[in-house]
Amino acid sequence: MFSYRHAFHAGNHADVLKHAVLIALLKHLAGRDTALMVLDTHAGAGLYRLDGDYANTSGEAENGIYQLLSEPNANIVHKNKGQSATKNELKTDEKQSDILSDYIDTIMSFNPKGATKPTIYPGSPFIIQRFLQGRDRLKAFEIHPTDSKTLAANLAQLDAGRQIAVLKEDGFEAVKKFLPPPSKRALLLCDPSYEMKSDYPRVVAMVTDAVKRFPTGTYAVWYPIIPRPEAHDLPRKLKTLANRVGKPFLNVSLTVKSSKLTKTADGEIERPGLPASGMFIINPPFTLKPALEAAMPHIATRLGQDANAAFTLE
Ligand code: SAM
Repeated sequence: MFSYRHAFHAGNHADVLKHAVLIALLKHLAGRDTALMVLDTHAGAGLYRLDGDYANTSGEAENGIYQLLSEPNANIVHKNKGQSATKNELKTDEKQSDILSDYIDTIMSFNPKGATKPTIYPGSPFIIQRFLQGRDRLKAFEIHPTDSKTLAANLAQLDAGRQIAVLKEDGFEAVKKFLPPPSKRALLLCDPSYEMKSDYPRVVAMVTDAVKRFPTGTYAVWYPIIPRPEAHDLPRKLKTLANRVGKPFLNVSLTVKSSKLTKTADGEIERPGLPASGMFIINPPFTLKPALEAAMPHIATRLGQDANAAFTLE
């Protein structure tokens, strides 16, 4: 049941998209006069070593944050509807892309000064904590016994006191008791591993319930884009929900490569690994769409691995 460990995937292209959006949300919502309650339903272990055994096993950061920090890939052609970007335009975007520079600055701030490549990668609870101020609060849910212990130990180093609580509970269920928050301001990040098929309907049920309890909260859901009916249906179901309750939404996706199975030289079928993912946000701040419009051409160009590289934004 608990075989997923985020340490194998830290800093991959899905983390880049998810954490870049998360940082943009936090910059707008945290540190205001009225306290923000942040609910991280699937928090992970909090900190990851990109030069450690776990990360080396898959090397996923190579095609994620490391690729982002390298030279732009001029061979990638964007397929985003209605938008095309030349290399020069992308360079212009690069200068204007606050989302991207905020993301890189935040990740690098967890690494030794002067480092050109990160060896430490912060997970969502550490990224969130970085932006909290005053009476802002974080509730981080992590059900895996080892990861939950590691998370608590990692966060204890911050001496953040009442600002952070680690709860070894089922995030889908446990968020209910924190909604609506006393301050009437909340950001919820839902980032399951989707290892179990049941995660897909549980995400929809949790967000449906949360929006009912607290209609003005901001809800951000990460989802994989893989050839599986439940995965395909998830953003569609979230869109139906947002429309039904009359709330604005943003749906951003990033494709880095083809999802087709390939054959190796000795005839073995090879799965491509995660080819694409998305973030669905209900009640996004008004600043998010223009910021993503500036950032996504650049992110897709940098992280694209073949001619299928693309992004969508609706
Ligand atoms: N949000 C983290 C980040 O961005 O750094 C990564 C989270 S990882 C994709 C998903 C985590 O959810 C895993 O650590 C897993 O153990 C945990 N998990 C799985 N089911 C859970 C549940 N029902 N409630 C809370 N945590 C759960």
